[in-house]
Amino acid sequence: MSASDNIFHPDFVVQPYWWDANPPTEERNPLPSKVDIVIVGSGYCGLAAGLELARSGLKVCVLDSGRIGEGASTRNGGMVSGGLKVPEAMRSKLGAQRFNLVQRDSVASFTHFEEFLKRENFDISYQRCGRFTGAHSRGAYRRQERQAADLVNKMGLTVTMVPESRQHEEIGSDFYHGGMVVNESGGIDPARYHRLLREAYQAAGGTLHGFAKVENIAPTAGGFTVTTSRGTIAATQVFVATNGYSGSAMPYLQRRIIPITSFVITTEELPPELILKLNPNKRMLVDTKRILYWYRLTPDNRRIIFGGRASFRDVNERESAGSLYQFMCGIWPQLQGIKLTHAWKGNVAFTFDHLPHMGVHEGVHYAGGCQGAGVAMATYLGHQTALKIIDPQSPRCGFDGLPFSSNPLYYGKPWFLPIVGNYYKALDRLEQRTGW
Ligand SMILES: Cc1cc2nc3c(=O)[nH]c(=O)nc-3n(C[C@H](O)[C@H](O)[C@H](O)COP(=O)(O)OP(=O)(O)OC[C@H]3O[C@@H](n4cnc5c(N)ncnc54)[C@H](O)[C@@H]3O)c2cc1C
Repeated sequence: MSASDNIFHPDFVVQPYWWDANPPTEERNPLPSKVDIVIVGSGYCGLAAGLELARSGLKVCVLDSGRIGEGASTRNGGMVSGGLKVPEAMRSKLGAQRFNLVQRDSVASFTHFEEFLKRENFDISYQRCGRFTGAHSRGAYRRQERQAADLVNKMGLTVTMVPESRQHEEIGSDFYHGGMVVNESGGIDPARYHRLLREAYQAAGGTLHGFAKVENIAPTAGGFTVTTSRGTIAATQVFVATNGYSGSAMPYLQRRIIPITSFVITTEELPPELILKLNPNKRMLVDTKRILYWYRLTPDNRRIIFGGRASFRDVNERESAGSLYQFMCGIWPQLQGIKLTHAWKGNVAFTFDHLPHMGVHEGVHYAGGCQGAGVAMATYLGHQTALKIIDPQSPRCGFDGLPFSSNPLYYGKPWFLPIVGNYYKALDRLEQRTGW
C-alpha cells in the first residue's frame, strides 16, 4: 500500500459522483432503416437538437458509440457560466461586427440555458450562486480589474472585485491574491440535467441507440447513408455532435477539435461548519491560472468536487486523484486527511482559435469545441443547429460558419499537449512566484 492510498475512502470508486444517482443508460434499441435526421453523439448538444427537431415533427434518432450520455455531459462539474472569454486577437481576425455577434451569443447561451430550464420545468438543483475566480498573482488581479470593465460594459455581466484583504469573505484560503465574483453563473447536477433532457427528447418521439458507433457518413442522392457498428441508416440530414470525443466518423471535425483530458475528485461528506469556512457563499470556484483548478460544493452542500488538469499524460484516475488531492490541499490545507470517494476523467474540446463552432461541411451539420465550458454552450449550439435545420432562413448564430482552422500537423491526437501544457504551467508558477 502506497502513501497515497491513504487518501481513498473504503467506498472509493472510479466513476463520476453524479452517476450514483443518474448513470448513463444502455438503450440497445434496434436501429431504424430510414429517418429524417441522424444525430451522432448523445450529450447535451445532440439531445438539445434532437428535442427541438422531434418536436417539430421530424423523425430523429440519436446514436452513441457507448452508453447514452457516457461522454462529457454526465462527467462535468456542472458549473454553468455565461460569457465565454473571447480572445481579443479574434476582433481583428473576425471583424468588429462578427466579434460582437460572438460575444452576444456567448452571453445568450447562458440566458437561453436559464430560460430553457424554466420552460421545461427541469428540477436539476440549479442555483445562480455566482462564480469566484481567484487571482493566482497580484498581476493576475490587476488584469482581472481591467477585464471586469469589459465584462460589465460589453457583455452586461454583474461583476464585483474582491481584494486580497477581503478574500476570506469568498473563500477560506490564502492561496489567492483577491479575485472577482461574476453573478451570472450557477451550478447544476449535470447527470440529472442529462437525464431530464433525454426523457424530454424521448417524450417528443425521438429514439436513442447506444453502442451504435458511427463509422462512416456517405452522401447519396437523397441525403446520406450512415454506417454504424450495428448496421446502416438512410438519413436526409446528419448532425455530428461528438465534441471532445470526435473521431474518424467526421475527419473534418476530428482535425479541428483538440480533446484534452480533465480529471475530477469528490471528497467524503464534510462537517457543515467546515464547508461554511471553505466556501461561505457556496459559489462556483475557479482561478486565473492557464492550467486552472475548478471546484464547487455538491448540490447538497456536503462535499467538495475538485477538478483540473492533473496530468498531460494518459494517467489513470487513482494516480490523477493523488495530484488533485495535493492541489486541493494547497488551497485548503484544512482538508489534509479527508478521504476521497470518487475520481474520474473526461474529455473537454478545445479549438485552435479558442472558440466554439457550428456549421455545415459537405452537407453534414456539426457543432462543438466548447472550451471546457459546454453545459450552457453545448445546449445552445444544439438548439441553434436544430433551428437552422428546421428553417434555414432563421437568424444566424454568431458561432455559425466561423472560419474553422486546423493545423497541417494535426490529425486528432494532441501530441503537442505535454509541451504546451508544461510551458503554461511554468508560466503560472513564474507569475505566482514573481507576482506578475
Ligand atoms: C471533467 C469535465 C468537467 C467539465 N466541467 C464543466 C463545467 O463545470 N461546466 C461546463 O460548462 N462544462 C464543463 N465541461 C464541458 C462539458 O461537459 C461539455 O462541453 C459538454 O458536455 C459537451 O456536450 P456535447 O453534447 O457536445 O458532448 P458529449 O457530452 O461529450 O457527447 C459526445 C458524445 O459523442 C459520442 N460519440 C463520439 N464519437 C461517436 C461515434 N463515432 N458514433 C457515435 N457516438 C459517438 C461520445 O460517446 C459522446 O457520448 C466539462 C467536461 C469535462 C470532461
